[in-house]
Amino acid sequence: MDHARRPFVGGNWKMNLTLQSAGELARRVGEGAASAGGVDAAVFPAFVHLETARRELADSGVSLGGQDVHFETAGAYTGEVSGAMLLDLGASWALAGHSERRHVIGESDELVGQKVEGALKAGLGVVLCVGETIDQREAGQTDAVNERQLREGLRLALQENVAAGSLETRLVIAYEPVWAIGSGKTATPEDAQLAHESLRATLGDLIGADDAQRVRIVYGGSMKPDNAGELMSQRDIDGGLVGGASLKADDFLSICRSAAATMTGAA
Ligand code: PEP
Repeated sequence: MDHARRPFVGGNWKMNLTLQSAGELARRVGEGAASAGGVDAAVFPAFVHLETARRELADSGVSLGGQDVHFETAGAYTGEVSGAMLLDLGASWALAGHSERRHVIGESDELVGQKVEGALKAGLGVVLCVGETIDQREAGQTDAVNERQLREGLRLALQENVAAGSLETRLVIAYEPVWAIGSGKTATPEDAQLAHESLRATLGDLIGADDAQRVRIVYGGSMKPDNAGELMSQRDIDGGLVGGASLKADDFLSICRSAAATMTGAA
């Protein structure tokens, strides 16, 4: 990664764990976090585990985030959780547009954009996930898909100017090729770098090249301790969004340490 950008490593726990095991995982991540200084680490437990994780992570420097967020502040939206509710629980981040929500639940680009805008307006930071399916990759559409998802994901937020001046700390883009998520297949560092480079160029078009240089673009898709260092040593890869490996404290912490080492040039 470019050493000017502070790495971001997020652990997406998805719909896993019990109250007890989520608390235990959070405790262990919190205890080890000091070994990865200089990295913004965050975990994304299921909503119902947020409070337990918050307690276990107190004073650890590890942030908390929601796996999803509704765009409205409050109201008749059965089953949804607002940005204000997440903030109230001590969360400072939310994921938007994760591929499992786009492709399993069926969320549209437009809805993802509303979520990005709503979460930023509420005061949260947002990890906006983008990425192509295997069919799109094979059809040579990777950059076009990423560009569309990025432009649509940010359109409302930029139009409404909800995060002026704070995008470098409150916006993270996660490039997550859908075919690499949970599959054990990882993009090669070179392919990932090309996708990140092209995302940064689109971002430059949207917010200006200087600001785009400051926004973190992280990779997600079967990132593990043994491939994280190589991926994150690429110039435009500024950390990771980690699913499966984040369920093991040692693996997640090892990835955080790789991010820290890459930043200092020690990796
Ligand atoms: C994810 O869910 O964002 C993810 C990258 O999952 P995994 O690391 O398991 O591929």
